[in-house]
Amino acid sequence: MERYWNQEIECMSAEDMKKLQDERLVAQVKHVYENVEYYRNLMDEKGVKPEDIKGTEDLHKLPFLSKADLRDAYPYGLLAKPLSDCVRIQSTSGTTGKRVVAFYTQNDIDLWEDCCARAIVAAGGTNEDVCQVCYGYGLFTGGPGLNGGSHKVGCLTLPMSSGNTERQISFMRDLGSTILCCTPSYAAYIGETLHEMGYTTDDIKLKAGIFGAEPWTEEMRHSIEKSLGIKAYDIYGLTETSGPGVSFECSEQTGMHINEDHFIPEIIDPETGEVLPEGEVGELVFTSITKEAFPLLRYRTRDLCVLSRKKCSCGRTLIKMKKPMGRSDDMLIIRGVNVFPSQIETVLIEQGYAPNYLIEVDRVNNTDTLDVNVEMNPEKTEDIAVQEKALASAMKTMLGINPKVHIVEPKSITRSEGKAVRVIDRRKLHD
Ligand code: ADP
Ligand code: ZN
Repeated sequence: MERYWNQEIECMSAEDMKKLQDERLVAQVKHVYENVEYYRNLMDEKGVKPEDIKGTEDLHKLPFLSKADLRDAYPYGLLAKPLSDCVRIQSTSGTTGKRVVAFYTQNDIDLWEDCCARAIVAAGGTNEDVCQVCYGYGLFTGGPGLNGGSHKVGCLTLPMSSGNTERQISFMRDLGSTILCCTPSYAAYIGETLHEMGYTTDDIKLKAGIFGAEPWTEEMRHSIEKSLGIKAYDIYGLTETSGPGVSFECSEQTGMHINEDHFIPEIIDPETGEVLPEGEVGELVFTSITKEAFPLLRYRTRDLCVLSRKKCSCGRTLIKMKKPMGRSDDMLIIRGVNVFPSQIETVLIEQGYAPNYLIEVDRVNNTDTLDVNVEMNPEKTEDIAVQEKALASAMKTMLGINPKVHIVEPKSITRSEGKAVRVIDRRKLHD
């Protein structure tokens, strides 16, 4: 039977949820307008007053916020509460440039941890579980968020942080960890190390993993599930909206339920800013309706995604988002063709390679080049040149352009303990 952390909210009727969102949105817009000069100016420029926002149907009238605004307003410009009411600062990983900081009141932290608790319960977690958190702790939101959620659920929490992989496995075995929380790339690395240490899934008690903070494919999910003997659940979030727990996966594993009582999602056309109908791919935008210290309205995540209201077998009524395909700025344009690293990952794993790869893009004589390095699978007996050709041809079918594939020595590509770096784009150095 499906268990919930907060059944009333997670299974609320669409009508009641809309009412709740409307109330919270109206209050939040007023709070922001009164306390955040930066956003007040944006609203004034657009000619929108708080009174114009009566419910979610008016959301589109509000101006967007982007990462550029966060950088402009750094550090305090978007703060909506006095610093004396704030108890925590977290920061983005800086994957795509200068870090931005986010502020939390104690109430903000409670709500954030509550969202993470929902994710842990949806993955089957109870107070009988031992939850090993190997997301980074510190400024990064992964460790603190899941740690707090795990405490709320009452799991015995192992605040490991990332790194020292053999020790992770020793603790996992000695203490009987049942739930693992980390990035999918680190989960793959932990699985690889487990087998290298001579253990099998029979030597550990893990049953579930809660993996997020970076894009990962279905193929990667299957590969991790097999190597660790678990069910692998996705979790999504970003520092700007609090951290992990904005959305989480349930037993159906076909997308993540968004905690709509805290975050209103929209999908927009990234070019025109127009709101797109449900089911279309576009940029995910979030409005935080409960955050006190750092309440961003219509924040453009740059994550490309699809929303779905299709009924879910778990009983939750919260809207679902598909696995994000990556950020609009992860998309590589190579010889005019749009390429996502996740498409390359899909081909590699489908063809029986481990998810240890590095994509290199460059420009030679005014032509873009795409090189894909992947580690050898020792079980494959064909000639390397034959394997490389087969991979290149499968990628040509998937991407529409021809990459150069290099099968490299096992262990020669750096493993990730946090967010994996999959792409080196040298064209940027020439510009
Ligand atoms: P940074 O933007 O510096 O990486 P964050 O640590 O706040 O900072 O990362 C948030 C971003 O991580 C999201 O906007 C999204 O691109 C990515 N992300 C988080 N969870 C997932 C997930 N489950 N699937 C795909 N991408 C994710
Ligand atoms: Zn569900």
